[in-house]
Amino acid sequence: ETIGTFFDAAVARWHDRDALIVRHQDIRWTYGELGRRVDALAAGLLGLGLEPGDRIGIWSQNNAEWVLTQFATAKAGLILVNVNPAYRRAEIEYALNKVACKALITSPALKSSDYIAILNDLAPEIATSQPGQLNAKALPHLRTVIRLGKDKTPGMLSFDDIPARGGNAERSRLAELADRLQFDDPINIQFTSGTTGFPKGATLSHHNILNNGYFIGEAMRLTPEDRLCIPVPLYHCFGMVLGNLACVTHGAAMIYPAEAFDALSVLQTVQAERCTALHGVPTMFIAALDHPDFAKFDFSTLRTGIMAGSPCPIEVMKRVVAQMNMQQVTIAYGMTETSPVSTQSSTDDPLERRVSTVGRVQPHIEIKIVDTEGRIVPRGATGEFCTRGYSVMTGYWNDEEKTREAIDPGRWMHTGDLATMDDDGYVNIVGRLKDMVIRGGENVYPREIEEFLYRHPKVQDVQVIGVPDPRFGEEICAWIKLREGEAATDEEIRDFCRGQIAHYKIPRYVRFVDEFPMTITGKVQKFVMREQTIKALD
Ligand code: ATP
Ligand code: MG
Repeated sequence: ETIGTFFDAAVARWHDRDALIVRHQDIRWTYGELGRRVDALAAGLLGLGLEPGDRIGIWSQNNAEWVLTQFATAKAGLILVNVNPAYRRAEIEYALNKVACKALITSPALKSSDYIAILNDLAPEIATSQPGQLNAKALPHLRTVIRLGKDKTPGMLSFDDIPARGGNAERSRLAELADRLQFDDPINIQFTSGTTGFPKGATLSHHNILNNGYFIGEAMRLTPEDRLCIPVPLYHCFGMVLGNLACVTHGAAMIYPAEAFDALSVLQTVQAERCTALHGVPTMFIAALDHPDFAKFDFSTLRTGIMAGSPCPIEVMKRVVAQMNMQQVTIAYGMTETSPVSTQSSTDDPLERRVSTVGRVQPHIEIKIVDTEGRIVPRGATGEFCTRGYSVMTGYWNDEEKTREAIDPGRWMHTGDLATMDDDGYVNIVGRLKDMVIRGGENVYPREIEEFLYRHPKVQDVQVIGVPDPRFGEEICAWIKLREGEAATDEEIRDFCRGQIAHYKIPRYVRFVDEFPMTITGKVQKFVMREQTIKALD
């Protein structure tokens, strides 16, 4: 099966049920309505002269057009390239050229960013060209630029005008493609989050992400009664797979509160739309829980959801269960390169395991935890998490060398994450290999110190890094976001640690901050924190 055939089956089966609600665009479509619009868009894209296997980028925040594009490209056999809405001139040029995008869908000015101006500046040829015939020096593969909305921009095609490009010929072409497209055809190139450096483009097939979405929904026990609030970005697999594909494979409703994360809109959406499930990275849940109006909202409809993307503090998980009524919350662990989920707790697991581990291996996937020589470590010991199975990407697009570094000849993906597995198979993520601190010969896992500092009553959020030190090799540095109205001193934080954690884990440096450097997916970029700390210490 392909995403297209699966999607068609969902449309037929759940025709009159809610499929997509986009609050900031005032859109409410049933599966039937969504299916009609997806078909029209898919035919229109073929009418533009795009061929199966061609790459088409989307550079936009969350909106209904994004969801339509995800399914329309799958049906037309086009390879969708998710382009981070935070990308600016240099990155957009790199990404589009790296994968040779023929077409690009983009937004009009959103928030502070002006996508159209950036594009026109990068490729002034756009303004004077005809859609389909662009020939720009800086973007030599790009032929067509499509903008969302009705306004005309010189040289760009309006998204709303695409369906009209599809006629009978394109419609019969789509029917033929439904038979011809293969489950292992590439369908999506997703760039990794850029948490540890420059993003890499992972090539994923129908089989990769469709199966993953299905098993994610199974672990949450999703049904057509479920209504999932999706405040995570679509440009990343959290929105596209854990959100959209988990819903479409189970007939659940996809509910988008806003174009980008905003805590208040999440609280309002959960209540107004009677959501049964809610996704988020830990920082999103923290922001929702700590919102000044939190107590005014009703969470009685909430049941489940996924916290994932970065370490999920136990304290935060417990609050989500107790204060947001998410009794069946689960944690998932994975990475873009593995479609993304490798382990996930299931709603059947005991609560204690669900708040403190990333669950067990997903069906039909293998995992192992190995030492630096590649030997499997004993249960409970720390090593690198490796995985093999249907979920592993074909490779990084056009980058054999990076692919070879990540996937070994036995097809095992080396994740770069440190993990442990207990006797029952529950996995814990200890941290990233790159973030592990070696202080005076001791391996220190920042995660452990973070978990401890979360217990301090004044601490709202905390991130721990290692910084170079002439005496110990590295020293521990904690960045702390205090709760509103609180004040604290470094010494107070160290006092809290004394006698509670080993002396070499006590932060030598403490910085009180309002923000952490983040990717747009809401992940803390520790490499940026390290750079900034080193500069400040100089
Ligand atoms: P880049 O590879 O560009 O540096 P990234 O690794 O953050 O960025 P993603 O593929 O979005 O890009 O994220 C995958 C990573 O996120 C995993 O390798 C892991 O380090 C972290 N992660 C995901 N889920 C969890 C989780 N539940 N607990 C701890 N860490 C997690
Ligand atoms: Mg990564």
